[in-house]
Amino acid sequence: MVNSKRIEKWFSQLAVVGTDAGGGFTRLAFSDSDWQVRDIVIELMQNAGLTVRFDAFGNIIGRREGKNPDAPVVMLGSHTDSVPNGGNFDGVLGVLAAIEAVQCMQESGEENYHPIEVVVFMAEESSRFGYATLGSKVFCGKISLENLESYKDKQGISLAQEMRLRGLVPEKIAQACYTGEIKSFLELHIEQGKALELTGHQIGVVTGIAAPTRLRLMVTGMADHSGATPMNMRQDALTAAAEIILQVEALATAELQNGVVGTTGIVKAEPGVMNVIPGRVELGIDIRGISSDSKHRVIDNLVAAVDSIKDRRGVGVEIVTLTDDTPVQISGEMIDFLDDICKQFPYPTMRMPSGAGHDAMHIAAIAETGMLFIPCRGGISHNPGEWASIDDIVAGTEIVLAAVRKLASQEFSWQK
Ligand SMILES: [Zn+2]
Repeated sequence: MVNSKRIEKWFSQLAVVGTDAGGGFTRLAFSDSDWQVRDIVIELMQNAGLTVRFDAFGNIIGRREGKNPDAPVVMLGSHTDSVPNGGNFDGVLGVLAAIEAVQCMQESGEENYHPIEVVVFMAEESSRFGYATLGSKVFCGKISLENLESYKDKQGISLAQEMRLRGLVPEKIAQACYTGEIKSFLELHIEQGKALELTGHQIGVVTGIAAPTRLRLMVTGMADHSGATPMNMRQDALTAAAEIILQVEALATAELQNGVVGTTGIVKAEPGVMNVIPGRVELGIDIRGISSDSKHRVIDNLVAAVDSIKDRRGVGVEIVTLTDDTPVQISGEMIDFLDDICKQFPYPTMRMPSGAGHDAMHIAAIAETGMLFIPCRGGISHNPGEWASIDDIVAGTEIVLAAVRKLASQEFSWQK
C-alpha cells in the first residue's frame, strides 16, 4: 500500500537541497544542488530494491528485474532539476511516486513478469543551457556531441564541459540512446495549470502534450541620436520588435480554439540607453500547441507578418528556429487503459491536454506512453509557491502503482 508518511519524508529530505532565501529551490541542470538531489534519489532507489545504472548523459536508471529479464521494460520516470527559484514538486513528484510504487511492490514481495525501470532524466528544464528535456532527447538518440559542445550557460560553460566535470564522457553520448524494448512509459506530473483545481478533479489523464517551437529573432535597425533624428527618418529596431510582439499575441489568439499559446519572453534592446534609438533587438518567442497544424499556421503567419513589418520599417530581421518539437497525441488505447485504472479508485478524474512540454513527449516516439496529472495549488509552478497536497500525491501514486502492476504482468498486452 502507498505509504503517505514515507512519501512526505522523501519530499522533506529533498526540501533542504538548493533552497533559496525566498522559500524556493534552485537546482539547475548539472549544478551542485542538482547532483545532491541525485545522490539522495539514488539512495532511495537502492533502498527500494532497484539496481541503479547510469547512461552516458548521467540519466539514472533503476531496474527492478522481471521474471522474464528479456521481456520489454515497463518504464516510469520524470526529472529532478529545477528552474531558478522553482518548487519541490515539478518533476520530483513523478520520480518519488515511481520509487514509492516499486517500494510497495518490494514490500508485498510480489513478482513482475516484465522488468520495471525508474528513470530520472537529466536537464529537463531549459533554464541553464537554453534547451529543454535533454535527458529524454539523448535517450531517443536526438542529441549529438556537437549539440553538447554548443549548448552553453550564461557563464559560457558548455554542457559538454559540465558533463566532463561530472565524470561523464560527452564523446560517448550516442551510447546513451536507449536500445532496449519499452512496453510502456508512464510519467506522473503536477498539472502546472488550474484546470484540475477549478473543476474539482484529482487526476488528469493526459490526451496530448503540446510541444514548443522556439524562435530567436534578431531585429536590426539603425542606432541614432534620439534628439537629432526626425521621426520619419528612423530605423527603430525596438518599435519594429514591438509590432512583432503584438503579432505573436494576435496570431496565437486567433488559434485560441485549438489551444495555441504564443509568448515573447525575451526582449533585449541595444544599446539600451535613453538618448539612443535602439539599433538592435533580440526577441525570444515560444509558440506551443497540441495541434501541429494549428501551431504551424501561427508560425507561417508570423513569418509573413515579419516580412511586411521589415519592409515597411526598413529594418532587417533574422529568424532562427531554436526548437521545433512535434506535439504528441497519446494513443486512445493508453488513455482508455489509464481511465480504467482510475475507475478502480474514488478519485474524480478528467481527460485533459498538457500545455507544458515533458520528457514523456520524446519517449512517446519510442514507446507506448501515458501521462497523469495531479493538481498543484492555484496552478502555480516554476515558482516558490508551487505546492501539491499529500492527498493528491498519494492518489496519483496509487494510480501509478496500479498501472505499473498491470502493465508489468504477463497477461496484459497492447492490442496494436
Ligand atoms: Zn517538469
